[in-house]
Amino acid sequence: MDRGDLVPDAVIMGIMKEALASPMAAKGAILDGVVRTTPQADGLADTLATLGRTLDAVLLFEVDEEELVRRLSGRTTCDVCQRPFFGREPGEACGVDGDVPQGTLVRRKDDEPEAIRKRMQVYRDQTAPVIDWYSARGANMVRVDAIGSLEDVEARVHAALGLT
Ligand SMILES: [Zn+2]
Repeated sequence: MDRGDLVPDAVIMGIMKEALASPMAAKGAILDGVVRTTPQADGLADTLATLGRTLDAVLLFEVDEEELVRRLSGRTTCDVCQRPFFGREPGEACGVDGDVPQGTLVRRKDDEPEAIRKRMQVYRDQTAPVIDWYSARGANMVRVDAIGSLEDVEARVHAALGLT
């Protein structure tokens, strides 16, 4: 992961199966950051079939590469609570009350420029084909313009899914 590579499919599929079969997912689940490869898409389809569940929608958040690099390279993460921050520098105290000991902000290795470029290439090679995989199977693919504030993007997701 530090190099910008993806977590192996087998690991992701194990976590995914366990999560979807758990009581917490009985009324439904949102998978965030999964699926990222077509073998994972196959694995999710098999898991849902086994569980007698269906996929309601695939959300595709669209952001241009320049904006992605800007976001990732401006991100620091607390080494205790793992919260992400933007516009704050490595070495600053996290400041979240629940942290024991108090966390320090660090730049994750996979947010370094070299790793970001690698992640973009991995996306083009392994994740972009997932869009065609779902399109070819007639999935409810919902494209969301993900440029803008968290509130704006959230409102677009709700509107796209018919949740208001
Ligand atoms: Zn923290």
